[in-house]
Amino acid sequence: MNINEFEINAHKVIDWIVDYYKNIEKYPVLSKSNPKDIFNQFSDFPPENSVDFDTIFAEFNEKIIPGITHWQHPDFFAYFPASSSFPSLLGEMLTSAIGAQCMSWQTSPAAAELEEKVMIWLRKMIGLPEYFEGVIQDTASTATLCSILSAREKFSNFSINHQGYENNKFTIYCSSEAHSSIEKAVKISGIGRSNMRKISTFDDFSINYFELDKQIEIDLEAGFKPLAIVAALGTTGSTAIDNLFEVGKIANKYNIWLHVDAAFAGSALILEQFRWMIKGIEFVDSFVFNPHKWLLTNFDCSAYFVKDKGALIQTFEILPEYLKTKNDNVVNNYRDWGIQLGRRFRALKLWMVIQSYGVKGLQEKIQFQLDLTEYFLKELKNIDNIEILAPVYFTLVCFRFNDNKLDESELNIINEKLHQTILEDSNLYFTHTKLNGKYTLRIVLGQNLLEKKNVDYLLSEIKKAVQDV
Ligand code: PLP
Repeated sequence: MNINEFEINAHKVIDWIVDYYKNIEKYPVLSKSNPKDIFNQFSDFPPENSVDFDTIFAEFNEKIIPGITHWQHPDFFAYFPASSSFPSLLGEMLTSAIGAQCMSWQTSPAAAELEEKVMIWLRKMIGLPEYFEGVIQDTASTATLCSILSAREKFSNFSINHQGYENNKFTIYCSSEAHSSIEKAVKISGIGRSNMRKISTFDDFSINYFELDKQIEIDLEAGFKPLAIVAALGTTGSTAIDNLFEVGKIANKYNIWLHVDAAFAGSALILEQFRWMIKGIEFVDSFVFNPHKWLLTNFDCSAYFVKDKGALIQTFEILPEYLKTKNDNVVNNYRDWGIQLGRRFRALKLWMVIQSYGVKGLQEKIQFQLDLTEYFLKELKNIDNIEILAPVYFTLVCFRFNDNKLDESELNIINEKLHQTILEDSNLYFTHTKLNGKYTLRIVLGQNLLEKKNVDYLLSEIKKAVQDV
């Protein structure tokens, strides 16, 4: 494809994108594909000769689009959203167009310096203290792994970096509701899953910090080395909020690294009314949240903040001759702030989002979705036999059908069936979890394109299905 052909085809792609967003509600939210439907449509052999773009584009429409679950569809209420917006999309396009690999300052000074600047903006927007410095990671999972590794290295005076493990007795603490990425980090950092302590929760699903304190005492007594606590601000199951102040005091008492996983809910900190969540931030060593979940920035974009940038860099830095540049001592080389060497220019889309909306616009967007959630919750409670299963702090509502006649196992069967019925009979998508063993229907209203009419549609489908139980 030469530049003239690119110009023609690029316009076709732009037209497609505009049409896609204008008509997104006509698509089935959840792909109807069965396993291997997509795979089997393509030849087992790569094409020997060039295929023209119109054929490729037609195949994209006919064979690939049916296998897409439409995360930007306003009737997508599953998981946490993959946030998106038009300014972000434009930023992604320009990032692709430039095609820079931003591993160090010299490989694109603008990428490094814009990243430094937008992370300062974000830090101010969510109210973190000034001593935090930030870096954009791909995902919260990566950031949490970085945090566990930094804690391990700082604790061992960076000796495991050099010698490997000798006598591994580290322990890591989080609540039983913490995200699986914590366990993954514990597993792959060599600390070992058996050394992970999942602490029970209070009734609101936040960590029981009395149990946390007790468990640390037990572990110390048994000769373990408590290494890190991961506190959640907004768990995946129910957006429970660990008491950072109480957990922080414990981390401080035992001199344990404290990491905060605020993957989804961290974005809410741009609203003053949520700042109570970070009371105790002075005890925190590292903090991650995902603009790609709730701050209108396309996947992937995770903001990782650390108190001690030296510990992070010492953990990850490696400097072969071919990467040395003359400015290494005076610039941020973000390849040393995480696992990967090669880095995308993610700051561009974030910068475009923050500029296009302004802090006020972003606040208004989140507030609008919070207001819709309040409306949804009020209407949901008016439906007979609906039980709300967890406090609602943000835009996640956990509920189930409960007529008080069935036992717990029957309720689980009925609610699973109810869930499947709604998915089959409507064009919307939401997922489930289990809270205290109860099959829980989980609705998240954090979609950029969400309007009140989508909430009304959701309510009518729930009402219909509940009446038919
Ligand atoms: N932490 C929490 C609380 C989450 O809800 C999630 C994902 O939903 C993650 C971490 C992992 O996020 P990522 O996909 O950015 O690794």
